Amino acid sequence: MTQEAGDPDGPQSLKGGGGSREYMSGFARGRVDLDCESCGFNMRRDTDFGTEADGSHTERYCSICYAGGAFRHPAATVDEFLALSIEEFALARKSAAGKLRLTMKKDLPRLPRWRK
Ligand SMILES: [Zn+2]
Repeated sequence: MTQEAGDPDGPQSLKGGGGSREYMSGFARGRVDLDCESCGFNMRRDTDFGTEADGSHTERYCSICYAGGAFRHPAATVDEFLALSIEEFALARKSAAGKLRLTMKKDLPRLPRWRK
């Protein structure tokens, strides 16, 4: 009886930390940010995600790395990958290719696609 103190909002506000509805509204399918397993790009919008052969989105890779069910830059190593893709990433991220390459060369080996 003592729990029912007449504050129906109490238990709810404890749960979600508030604002969860507003948070979700930015994601068409309720997805939260995920990092591409190939380039580390933080994907938030539907258009950030790569597509499978059937046109559905994958949560594993971004649209630059993966489209139509296949990697857009087939590569066995990070170096090969960057050689093929760095200009595109530089454009997409509005970064200088040289600087971006250094960052990605350092970060990419930790990602699932490149981890041995
Ligand atoms: Zn990617």
